[in-house]
Amino acid sequence: NQSLHALDPEVAAAVDAELHRQQSTLEMIASENFAPVAVLEAQGSVLTNKYAEGYPGRRYYGGCEHVDVIEQLAIDRVKALFGAEAANVQPHSGASANAAAMFALIKPGDTILGLDLAHGGHLTHGMKINFSGKLYNVAAYHVDAETNLVDMDEVERLAKEHQPQLIIAGWSAYPRQLDFAAFRRIADSVGALLMVDMAHFAGLVAAGLHPNPVPYADVVTTTTHKTLGGPRGGVILSKAEWAKKINSAVFPGQQGGPLEHVIAGKAVAFKVAATDEFKDRQQRTLEGAKILAERLTRSDLTEAGVSVLSGGTDVHLVLVDLRSSELDGQQAEDRLHSVGITVNRNAVPFDPRPPMVTSGLRIGTPALATRGFGAEDFTEVADIIAEALKPSFDDATRTALTERVTALAAKHPLYPEL
Ligand code: PLP
Repeated sequence: NQSLHALDPEVAAAVDAELHRQQSTLEMIASENFAPVAVLEAQGSVLTNKYAEGYPGRRYYGGCEHVDVIEQLAIDRVKALFGAEAANVQPHSGASANAAAMFALIKPGDTILGLDLAHGGHLTHGMKINFSGKLYNVAAYHVDAETNLVDMDEVERLAKEHQPQLIIAGWSAYPRQLDFAAFRRIADSVGALLMVDMAHFAGLVAAGLHPNPVPYADVVTTTTHKTLGGPRGGVILSKAEWAKKINSAVFPGQQGGPLEHVIAGKAVAFKVAATDEFKDRQQRTLEGAKILAERLTRSDLTEAGVSVLSGGTDVHLVLVDLRSSELDGQQAEDRLHSVGITVNRNAVPFDPRPPMVTSGLRIGTPALATRGFGAEDFTEVADIIAEALKPSFDDATRTALTERVTALAAKHPLYPEL
């Protein structure tokens, strides 16, 4: 029983290097966060050894008395956090949660109506070569070309035209809030079920800083590692009437043994998400995104064709629109990477450039808020990004900006205990 360093120095060295990368650069991928050490500890525990097919109190394996306690804690906590009637905490990921939820709610060949991937939707909301696009008949709604907001008139029109069995509200790249009441009304008007995928904004909902979709939707899915700040994984919340079907769709429908070490991490994350410290963090997340949006709409950037999609944000991310800029998404991502800021290039609606290049950047604030960043720090980050996106960017700018990034990283140490 050797340590990782002793047994496998190659893997250990890469893990150490990744820790150093996370500590020394600024993580602004909107779907990432830093899990607390307690969550890392739970995930690295002996729970990884345990088979526990089934659910608490109804397992197909012996020796489940302790994992039952843990899974029940996770279920009870997440139900309380979001005011849900039922919860399944076993999905291995957000994509698995969506697959299982759809498996429970509709049949292959049924029609789903979701936000187009190219307009900010997720792969699992109906992309052609994803399971969702292969198993179901897909209709997709879009954002309006002028406002860049989801076009609810189109949602209603498509719902009437296609008579979907399921409408999906949720997004991976969208800077505003959705109108869940309007989605519910449209779903009811055509007899469709409503699923909300709150993977991105679940942390904001938990903190009471974003409308909660739970009262409106038949089923709500989420990941636990984005704004929620827990381990990588998924959860399905539902009305009580769907609980049995959903449990059976997750296991044995889609998965075998649950990852009890990850479920323990989820339980810890849900405990954290109910605290004032978490609410403060989500507040700084939102504030940071607003500061970014404001400072990336400076006149010298606008003149260079750089703008912010929809003119601002109500959530934890900003979409930078480079359609009118010489700089494409790939070049902008590389530039920020070269000064120590990690973001991802992202297609913007009606993007003229190919998906591997794109005309956008998705920039998120959750990970830096977890690191302790406040308004002053986010102002400095926003100004660094603005300088990096200017046409005048050169080697001297790179050196100067890298120093400013290093200073911010040093001001807010990450995982000092590791
Ligand atoms: N749903 C949405 C809205 C997402 O943005 C994502 C991840 O990017 C997922 C689901 C899938 O989560 P995972 O990567 O854990 O499968």
